[in-house]
Amino acid sequence: MSEITVLGIFVADISFSGPKIPSIGETILGKKYNVGPGGKGCNQAIAIARLGGTINFISKIGKDAYGELALKTLEKNKISTENIIQDASQQTGVAGILVDQNTGKNAINVIVGAPNSLKISEIEKKISLIKSSKIFLTQLEVPKDVTLHCLKTAKESGCITILNPAPASEISKEFYNNIDFFTPNETEAEFYTGIKITNEQQAKQAANKLISLGIKKVIITLGEKGLLYSDGKEEIYLKASSVKAIDTTGAGDAFNGGLAYGISEAKSIKECLELANKVAGLSTTKLGAGDSMPYLEDLK
Ligand code: ADP
Repeated sequence: MSEITVLGIFVADISFSGPKIPSIGETILGKKYNVGPGGKGCNQAIAIARLGGTINFISKIGKDAYGELALKTLEKNKISTENIIQDASQQTGVAGILVDQNTGKNAINVIVGAPNSLKISEIEKKISLIKSSKIFLTQLEVPKDVTLHCLKTAKESGCITILNPAPASEISKEFYNNIDFFTPNETEAEFYTGIKITNEQQAKQAANKLISLGIKKVIITLGEKGLLYSDGKEEIYLKASSVKAIDTTGAGDAFNGGLAYGISEAKSIKECLELANKVAGLSTTKLGAGDSMPYLEDLK
């Protein structure tokens, strides 16, 4: 039995790092560029694998050069490629990323590619993996009918479900009833609650609102400020690790991977949050998304 199943996308991240993120109509001279693995699902799967978790990754790619990068990346990170659907009629996804080298902050445009064509019938062939897992983790980068079907199946099978609601987009009430952990960042939390988050108090209000919608446990990640957890009774606020962030791309993914791994190891909620916070902080000290995920040894 595999402990954690992740459903999500792989994209090739084409990332440009420079003195600022250019504004509309502006051209700047950048410093470095990199092509590496990305896509929230793949980043989260890598984070879990590098921590030593047992992981299934379900995704869809094309049969092209970036598809090859996907397979190589998974092999390198000891993640089985058995559950990757390859479709020659589709393109592997790509993301254009602009990074401000001074703050590590970014702006991203993701072309999802092949996973946009994912159908429930294709996922049904992999559904036994989800059913036999302890934890099911997913995001909002694959079609929503597929995501909801998997969340419902996971919940019915007794899995702990984690939805990283990113990128933010409308979800039905049915989603909320099938989520154990909901992990938006500040902007996503504002999207789902209408509450603008600039401090801990507002984060608490937003978490309470999400809990009133039927979600069991909410973690709002607050970037360089850390995170807020609430289950409606217990609240935990943690400051972010003090690191020199050079690229925060994938920080949220590192966080979700760390959280899923912590839960699979039956750690207490406080320990899971501390671990995820540390994994995410460390990921910001390296360039890239998938490639910036730390290994278990790095945490010591
Ligand atoms: P996302 O990457 O999804 O936008 P956040 O920006 O909220 O998510 O970051 C997720 C987590 O990554 C934070 O809760 C924190 O643990 C860590 N993190 C992000 N930025 C920094 C930073 N500058 N320094 C330390 N940790 C950070």
